[in-house]
Amino acid sequence: MSDNAVELNKTKNPNKFQVRADLHVHTTFSKDSLITPKDLVYYSKKRGLNAVAVTDHDQLEGAYKIAKETDFLVIPGMEVSSADGHIVALNVQELIPRGFSAVETVERIHRAGGVAIACHPYVYFKGCLREKVSGTFDAIEVINARAFPFKSSVKKAEEAAERLKLTRVAGTDAHYGSQIGYGYTVIEAAERSVEAIAKAIVDGHCQPFGQPVPPIINLEQQFLRLRRIAKKFSPS
Ligand SMILES: [Zn+2]
Ligand SMILES: [Zn+2]
Repeated sequence: MSDNAVELNKTKNPNKFQVRADLHVHTTFSKDSLITPKDLVYYSKKRGLNAVAVTDHDQLEGAYKIAKETDFLVIPGMEVSSADGHIVALNVQELIPRGFSAVETVERIHRAGGVAIACHPYVYFKGCLREKVSGTFDAIEVINARAFPFKSSVKKAEEAAERLKLTRVAGTDAHYGSQIGYGYTVIEAAERSVEAIAKAIVDGHCQPFGQPVPPIINLEQQFLRLRRIAKKFSPS
């Protein structure tokens, strides 16, 4: 991974705490992920991150459980399957139900004290929002390191960010340990806390970085996932 000239904890403002976080990671609390809580912390540290958001599909419990059990800075969140596409909700205090419209889902995230992020809004093979992205979101995931096609999805998301004046963030959408950190956001928070990070994102004090996850790593993930499924169904 190339270094993007952002040095951790060296900020323009010495009163700020600089966070380098992958804001979109799935753990084994999502059925389709291979990332155990142990992997989450190990690979986040290995990639030079000092925080990570857990955003499992339509559930929140695992994220809070992991956050409680580690000293590593875990931002609890979830990825909500709205009727219009996927939406990442960070720092929500209650489960956001799936199946509502994007407008209703964003309102519910705000009522639950959370940050609403339009994730991978212009990709193939994932529930994406496209024209449902609006100015009511707190941020847009301009870089999703596992987006396909990568370049055009970044370009379209950048254009939407510009048009709707949305804060730009990045994450990997990791489902396998060594994918973590290919997309990350640098956030200037007032202090080392989830609340301060959430506020900094809402206030736009952040910058997206990243590159696509190398295809070999995605292949490895698919192989291990298929092997796990095969094991489950093989007679013991
Ligand atoms: Zn998604
Ligand atoms: Zn995801």
